[in-house]
Amino acid sequence: MARRMIETNLTEEDVKVEGSLRPQKLDDYIGQSKVKENLKIYIEAARQRGDALDHVLFYGPPGLGKTTLAGIIANEMGVNIKITSGPAIEKPGEMAAILNGLEEGDLLFVDEIHRLNRQVEEVLYPAMEDYCIDIMIGKGPTARSVRLDLPRFTLVGATTRVGLLTAPLRDRFGMLQHLEFYTVEELEQIILHSARILGVEIETAGAVELARRSRGTPRLANRILKRVRDFAQVKYDGRITEDVARTALDLMDVDRLGLDHIDRNMLLTIIQKFNGGPVGLDTLAAAIGEDAGAIEDVYEPYLIKNGLLNRTPRGRIATELAYRHLGLGMLGQSSEN
Ligand code: ADP
Repeated sequence: MARRMIETNLTEEDVKVEGSLRPQKLDDYIGQSKVKENLKIYIEAARQRGDALDHVLFYGPPGLGKTTLAGIIANEMGVNIKITSGPAIEKPGEMAAILNGLEEGDLLFVDEIHRLNRQVEEVLYPAMEDYCIDIMIGKGPTARSVRLDLPRFTLVGATTRVGLLTAPLRDRFGMLQHLEFYTVEELEQIILHSARILGVEIETAGAVELARRSRGTPRLANRILKRVRDFAQVKYDGRITEDVARTALDLMDVDRLGLDHIDRNMLLTIIQKFNGGPVGLDTLAAAIGEDAGAIEDVYEPYLIKNGLLNRTPRGRIATELAYRHLGLGMLGQSSEN
């Protein structure tokens, strides 16, 4: 798949700087006010009881701050955090070893938790519910199962695809929190904050322009900030004004709504090849050469949120706004003709 400027998944470059840009305390975490409010209450209650926090599941598109929140919870609770991910754990024994290595109150963060395989996931059931694991000792007829007690820990799971979680796993979380796309105002604050940390000179109007085109996603806002900074340095005097922001983003092929060529191609395909829809997800995926899962988790949520695409039982439909955004008439021809 072609790399996109507006790739919301974590890239190697992000890893280097994200650490310094990540807020450490709940009060420094911008946006997601509902999630923050809920967490504050749960954390306070758990602290008062002197107990581990109940297991939490964060779900929503990539780059919205799930990992950041897990770190913040650990900070606020004053506990250690261990980080792993669904695809990294292949065998039940590996999960058992991770759980067994936890200390009282520790937080275990499992990213992409929907990708745990079934046997590994089954180790989590008794661990989450009763803080114990069953391990098999020996082989064949003499094999027996031994129950091991675990310290009280908190599992924080993150997923972009809550629909793929099995019911038994989902039901074992005490708290399910959905992360929403950020508003332009929230992203503007995040950009100004990151610019201060990175020592980038930016005008408010420049920050607003970057915020508008960041797809509601902090990871993207930070990445765009860095790219535009480079551009401002090389082509101008280093300061990000509205004009510099606009010119740089146009060059990067990120349009006024934050869409790139893949988004526009997807909408154009629905309009021109399928008469605006409805078109089924798999058909659409094949037509644009993208993975159906990626369309569902990464591309489409933002288009739906912005009223460019509708998801119906019969398939995806391009809205009137999509036609207008692409400068097309309702028959899919360019309105300039
Ligand atoms: P996810 O786990 O959902 O993919 P992350 O937690 O890794 O997303 O967030 C990506 C980056 O975006 C973080 O490094 C952080 O710099 C920034 N970020 C996310 N949420 C916020 C927020 N609410 N305020 C400020 N920065 C944020």
